[in-house]
Amino acid sequence: MNRSFDLEKLVRPNIKKLVPYHSAREDFGEGLLLDANENSLGAPFSDNQQLHRYPDPKQTELRKLIAEWRGVRPQNIFTGVGSDEGIDLLYRIFCRPGEDRVLTTPPTYGMYNVSANIHDIAVDEVLLDEEGFQLRVDKILDAVKSTTKMLFLCSPNNPTGNTFATSDIQKLVEEFEGIVIIDEAYIDFSNQDSWASKVVEYPNLVVLQTLSKSFGLAGIRLGITYAQEEIIDYMMKVKAPYNINKLTAKKAIEGLQNWKTVQFRADAIKKERKELKDKLEQLKIVQKVFKSEANFLLAKFTNAKNIYKQLTQQHIIIRYRGNEPLCDNCLRITVGTPDENEQLISALKSLG
Ligand code: PMP
Repeated sequence: MNRSFDLEKLVRPNIKKLVPYHSAREDFGEGLLLDANENSLGAPFSDNQQLHRYPDPKQTELRKLIAEWRGVRPQNIFTGVGSDEGIDLLYRIFCRPGEDRVLTTPPTYGMYNVSANIHDIAVDEVLLDEEGFQLRVDKILDAVKSTTKMLFLCSPNNPTGNTFATSDIQKLVEEFEGIVIIDEAYIDFSNQDSWASKVVEYPNLVVLQTLSKSFGLAGIRLGITYAQEEIIDYMMKVKAPYNINKLTAKKAIEGLQNWKTVQFRADAIKKERKELKDKLEQLKIVQKVFKSEANFLLAKFTNAKNIYKQLTQQHIIIRYRGNEPLCDNCLRITVGTPDENEQLISALKSLG
């Protein structure tokens, strides 16, 4: 248990005082609705979804379903426009522009930094260790300053693909007095348990998940944040009044109702990941393929930039990660369909 954690000390004073926008749909969902300046004549096409009405600002039905699925309470859940909205809101709630700082552990997902720059927040970086891309827990704790508000941990990590040791994450959650954010965008492709249900145990723990990856719903933009109720309350206050639209909510609910298919597909991607790794490892131009618990592989090539360029000319698009620390000559490859992976491998063979 993190005993020295004090939420009220961490929240920005202006956010503590904030009187949130009160949306019309919060009070009444039914009746003769002349309260929200909607278009009484309806959408300009045949519409059985009541799209002329604003969506539920609290996403009650969707949050209830997510809660049942992950074994938490709806009060511990925030739904946002991708995980990226969750990240942005956490900065807005906790970090005073020009004053506060966050900690990240590169190489990792780029949005933690971009969002910090948007909010004028300093970023202290503690590189992962070189051998296994694991957390250097003592170095991270040493880097904490009095104004360090948040620590981002991405597990499975993008772009390295590995998960962090549970005991390391636990130590950081227990010892860091700010907010620890565990980004679990790729959790369903891993063999690790989610930390989501632990948010009731650890008041400083925030877990991010998304329907963009294992659910195959990147196009609807639905991200999930799990946290203790008071943090979720702040997120609800700060978000745009109707952040999740009706079409997204409907498809997200359909996605959750098809969880078995999601799991089945995630298993298929895991099998395909292994095949792709084996095939990559046989290529002369590949020096190393790192172990992955995500739906992508990070691989070290002999001349990554050149290979990346040549693949692009053949309209095969992967991600050059050679500019990231510890990722010299590395390319990140999303696991495709068996046919797509075959095309990639034969293109690589023709280069090597
Ligand atoms: N976290 C990680 C680690 C990611 O790699 C990504 C997307 N590439 C996201 C979050 C963003 O997810 P979303 O689509 O939910 O905004």
